[in-house]
Amino acid sequence: MNADVLQRAYDRIGDLTPMLTDCGALCGAACCAPDADGQGGVHLFPGEAQALRDCEWVASVLPGAFAPVMTCDGSCDRDRRPLGCRIFPLTPARGKNGKWTVRMDARARAMCPLTGSGISGLDPDFVRAVRDALRIVAEDPEGEAFLEKWRALEEEYRKPLW
Ligand code: SF4
Ligand code: SF4
Repeated sequence: MNADVLQRAYDRIGDLTPMLTDCGALCGAACCAPDADGQGGVHLFPGEAQALRDCEWVASVLPGAFAPVMTCDGSCDRDRRPLGCRIFPLTPARGKNGKWTVRMDARARAMCPLTGSGISGLDPDFVRAVRDALRIVAEDPEGEAFLEKWRALEEEYRKPLW
């Protein structure tokens, strides 16, 4: 994906976070803590794996379901954290009009206390910025294909097994 597109997406979110206060204080920054078995991690957008090669805080970058998945040691340089971290606990979705929008990440339910109150409980500026950032990514064909694969995987997470 074009690096300028990715940077514009980063810039659109800027310093915005899910809450106006540090939500990490609610949960001990659960989304930045490695799982007990060292699994978990964030899907990297196209181009991010290469860009993070020199980051000492990256623990691993492994093949994932549709894109590389990164784990870290929890001490990232915030200016370089992946887009998947910047948008959490939101995830790409299609609105009824077909445009890219956001919804709560189904996998976040297990760790993120913000999921209880839904999107309306998040800072509206953050929600708008994430939605805009995803639409910026979708301007790039590789970026849109990535979003579509992420969205499809998210649909799978929402299907009960029994
Ligand atoms: S798990 Fe949720 S509440 Fe905790 S730091 Fe991450 S986004 Fe904030
Ligand atoms: S890269 Fe940063 S924001 Fe993302 S999980 Fe690691 S410590 Fe948290």
